[in-house]
Amino acid sequence: MDCLFCRIIRKEIPSKIVFENEKVLAFRDIDPKAPVHILVVPKKHISGLDSSTADDARLLGEMLVAAKDIAKKEKLDESGYRVVINNGKDAGQAVAHIHYHLLGGRKFQWPPG
Ligand code: AMP
Ligand code: ZN
Repeated sequence: MDCLFCRIIRKEIPSKIVFENEKVLAFRDIDPKAPVHILVVPKKHISGLDSSTADDARLLGEMLVAAKDIAKKEKLDESGYRVVINNGKDAGQAVAHIHYHLLGGRKFQWPPG
C-alpha cells in the first residue's frame, strides 16, 4: 500500500518507534504539538475512523490500551493526557491511515480549536 504510515510500518521510512507488537505500531510525531506527541496506528491499513467496521472493534480497542500503556511509560498518567482521532476534512485529517494522537506534557484547551 502506497501510504505514508504503511511505509513507516514496513520501516521503509524511519520513525522513532516507542511501541510495537503484531498489530500495532506507535511512533513519535514528526511535528509535535505537545512535549509528548505519539501516533498509535494499526498495521492493517484502515483509511480513517469512518472506514472502520465492527470487525475492527477489537483492534481499535487494543490501540487504545496501547495508548494508555505508552502514556504511563511516558509518565503522563498522573498529569493527564489526551487521545485524539482526526477524521476527515473539518477535523484536519492529513494522513489517510487511521491513527490516534497521544498528546501530553502540557495543559490542553477544551473545547479544542
Ligand atoms: P492528522 O492530521 O490527524 O492526519 O495527523 C497526521 C500526523 O502525522 C501529523 O501530526 C503529522 O505531523 C504526522 N506525520 C506526518 N509525517 C510523519 C512522519 N514521517 N513521521 C511521523 N509523523 C508524521
Ligand atoms: Zn496505510
